[in-house]
This record gives sequence, C-alpha cells and structure tokens, in this order.
Amino acid sequence: MKVKAPGRINIIGEHTDYNDGYVLPFAVDKFVEVSIERSKRYEFYSKTIGEVVVLEKFERLGKWSDYVTGVLVALEKRGYKTEPVRIEVDSSLPMGAGLSSSAALEVATAYAVCEFFGFEIPKLELVKIAREAEVEFVGVKCGIMDQFTAVFGKRGHAIFLDTMTLQYEYVPLELSGCEFNLVDSNVKHELSSSEYNKRRQECEEVLKTLGKKSFREVTFEDLKVLKGVLFKRAKHVLEENERVKKSVEALKRGDFEELGKLLFQSHESLRDLYEVSCEETDFIVDYLKGEEGILGARMVGGGFGGGVIVLSRLGTFERLKDRLAEAYRERFGLEPSFHSIGSADGVHRV
Ligand code: ADP
Ligand code: MG
Repeated sequence: MKVKAPGRINIIGEHTDYNDGYVLPFAVDKFVEVSIERSKRYEFYSKTIGEVVVLEKFERLGKWSDYVTGVLVALEKRGYKTEPVRIEVDSSLPMGAGLSSSAALEVATAYAVCEFFGFEIPKLELVKIAREAEVEFVGVKCGIMDQFTAVFGKRGHAIFLDTMTLQYEYVPLELSGCEFNLVDSNVKHELSSSEYNKRRQECEEVLKTLGKKSFREVTFEDLKVLKGVLFKRAKHVLEENERVKKSVEALKRGDFEELGKLLFQSHESLRDLYEVSCEETDFIVDYLKGEEGILGARMVGGGFGGGVIVLSRLGTFERLKDRLAEAYRERFGLEPSFHSIGSADGVHRV
C-alpha cells in the first residue's frame, strides 16, 4: 500500500500563522511517497537518504526517522495502536528548501498507517496528529499551515486559511499565462531559529502591552501605542493579513499584476519591519524586480535564508534564471537552486 503527500508553498501571509492570522498556501506537485507493509519489527527506510532505521521501541533518535516515529506516537496516544510495519519513504520534494518536506512526510506516514490498519480518522484530526509529531516529538514549534495544506490541498486551487478558526476557502488558482517558481538561496543562517523564537516572543509582548489575547483583536489604531521593535512587528502582521485578503481578491479577479505587487510589498515588510530577510534573499528579490515579465517575488518561510517565491509571465523566468544564478554566484560564491511549482491534490493513495 502506497500513499503520497504533497509539499506546499505559501503565496503570501508570512509570520502570520502563529499570530492567529491568514495564509494562502497551495499544495505543490512534488511529493513524499510512503509505502507500508507488515514486518517483524518497526523498520523505516528512506530511499532519499539511503538509510534504514530499526526501532526496538518508539524513541527519538534526532534524525529523519523521528518524523515517522512521532506520527506513530501521536496515533498511539489517541488509542490507535499499530503493529510492527516496514515503512519506505521516497520523495521528489527537496528537503529543507521551504516546501515543507517534513509535513509531507508526517502526513504521508499518518495517512498510510490509517489506511493500512483501517483507522478511520477525520481529515482535520489527521492534520493535528501530523503536527503533533513535529511539535511534540521532533520538537519544532511549527504552525498548522504545512500539515493542513498537505492534507486539504486541491489541484488548481490555493487555500485561504484562517489559522485562528481553521476555516478555509479554496481559491481557484487559474494562472492563465503566469507561473510560480521557487529560488532556493541555499543558505540557512545560524540566526534562523533563535530569531524565530525572538519574533514569537516579541509578538506576545505586543499582546501583553495592549492587554489583548489574540492578534486578531489588534487594530491599526493600537499601533499608536506601540514603539520601536514592537511597533514594527505588529505593523507587519496587520498589514500582511490585509495583503493576504487583497491577494485572495486579486486571484479571484485573475489580476496577477496586483498579486505580484503584493508579493514585493510582503518582502519589503519582512525585510524592513519584521527584519527576517537576509542579504542573499534580498539580492534575489532585488535582481528580479524590474526584470521583464517578473510580476512579484518575496522570501518564504521563517527567514534568514531559504527560498524566494517568484510570480512571472509564463516562460520569462526560464530565460533569466541562468543570468540570475551567475550574478548570485559572483556575489556570494554560492549556487542557487530552482524549482518550478505547480499545484496538486492533498494526500491520497497511489
Ligand atoms: P522542510 O520541511 O522545509 O523541507 P525541515 O527541516 O522542516 O525542512 O524538514 C526536513 C527534514 O524532514 C529532513 O531533514 C528529514 O529529516 C525529513 N525528511 C523530509 N523528507 C524526507 C525523506 N524523503 N526521507 C527522509 N527524511 C525526510
Ligand atoms: Mg518543515
């Protein structure tokens, strides 16, 4: 029995997910595949990594198998007991490129195990189990967007998700004449996880200062009370939420010029207000700005490296990517990677 779960990319709505805000991701046409069969022992094999892991008991090993084990543990906690299986993982999804291979691995594992043992678990519960594996077992404090998209993704659609209520709406992604690409800067600065935690703290500080429970209650009026860093962080979150809503409208109208502008604005805000970009991703975005056929670009993910999502007229990106790679190489002595991004359905059997 084999299943596959997609990666995801978030068009817009960065650093809003842990602030009860909006995001606009879609499932991408690159997948983690998991096959499962009975075995004498729990045995996991990643073809991608080229490693077999055999477990006597469910324990944390500080490596890729934790994403798989974490799912089994989260299932067991809810009373879904499994028996020894061999789980094989294969993937067309680059790891650590900001396309959320970790969530795809968790969701594919959870879905495969449920199908195999006949556990009937509602989709949203599956999302929560996969997320719990990452938060509690692997120990990464992630939001819910990645696992949500890997489960609920729908080909030809983005998901307008309210991370506070988990209400969502499928927004048709009719990219007539346009396309998305991802440029991976191939850098991950040391700062990334400490600064991520710091941003989360600063956002809590904003709420404390204003005496509010949720960022959803924070208004533009409240900004007047805030100073310095707290002002900047809050302004980003409020404006980014507005940009997500505007992006949804732009997509519905098929107004890609407008969507592109919103992407550029998002990047500027992440750079100047939220202060999570870096030289490398700024360079890529600046390079693309003003290039013929490029409609918009912004850094994606936590920041301090990682990827840049690019919206462009069909075919134009292909023509300039060698030039961009060369300029990037010259400047940083590093090779960027390029991934074309189409949409896909959420987790399913193959
Ligand atoms: P991202 O989710 O953005 O790709 P993460 O650092 O969150 O980056 O997750 C990447 C990790 O997920 C890898 O280091 C590995 O442990 C695990 N992983 C993802 N895909 C696979 C795979 N095909 N085989 C084994 N482990 C995988
Ligand atoms: Mg991840």
